[in-house]
Amino acid sequence: MTAQTPPPTVKEFCIGYPLYEEFTFAKEDDEAGWNLFFSREPIDTYCPGCNAHSIFHLHITGDIPRNLDAWVGNKRLAVVLKCSRDVAHKLFFLFEIEGRTVQKIGQYPSLADLNTYDVRQYSAVLSKGDFRELTKAIGLAAHGVGVGSFVYLRRIFENLVDAAYQIAKTDSGWDDDAYQNGRMAERIQLLAGHLPEFLVDNRSMYKILSQGIHELTENECLAAFPVVKMGIELVLDEKLAASAKQRKLEQATRAIHGLVSRAGVEARSGTDE
Ligand SMILES: [Zn+2]
Repeated sequence: MTAQTPPPTVKEFCIGYPLYEEFTFAKEDDEAGWNLFFSREPIDTYCPGCNAHSIFHLHITGDIPRNLDAWVGNKRLAVVLKCSRDVAHKLFFLFEIEGRTVQKIGQYPSLADLNTYDVRQYSAVLSKGDFRELTKAIGLAAHGVGVGSFVYLRRIFENLVDAAYQIAKTDSGWDDDAYQNGRMAERIQLLAGHLPEFLVDNRSMYKILSQGIHELTENECLAAFPVVKMGIELVLDEKLAASAKQRKLEQATRAIHGLVSRAGVEARSGTDE
């Protein structure tokens, strides 16, 4: 027996899979196929109607078939997910089935709309251009476009590393030659202390960023996509945390300033007496 990819859940197939990508269910996985079309399991995902995460349920009209292979054959089946906060909020998916091979052939809203919600928070710490490219990259990757999405992501990653470099190069003892001649993994190592620890510890994963675009296949890019995206998110998470801390410090400084100047006024008015 060969190790098989586990069958996708409803959420993975609807929200994670690009259009037209096929999955063939093994006969013993009929139940997973049945779940895709008939399960009432709650699904937690982004609702464009609520503009927030919500719990969805499969909307089924008519009887729910009992036999686990009811979905097998040559047919098209629709999957409609309804938001539990407001039943008018629906996500539509259309699947083409040939035997046990299932392919998503249509959906509304788009994959990009359903997949970019979680990165919207980063617009506060990215330039407008970088943020637009980040959402574009996620949209392209969601549609199975590997090299194209990777180019955008790589550029954002390099910009973030460069921002860390601009700070690091003013450090005493900075070895600029090593940095300029280093590949991405070596640069990340040199920037330890200015980049998230996870990124530095796992820098070898970013070797792929040093490869020329012409050397990369669609599948290599798609496989590296989540790793590079995670690296970007880690850097941005730290920037978000730093800017929240900065805001709090400014508030505290203002509050203390207010107290001190009031105390000063009171002290002065005390000596006037
Ligand atoms: Zn909703």
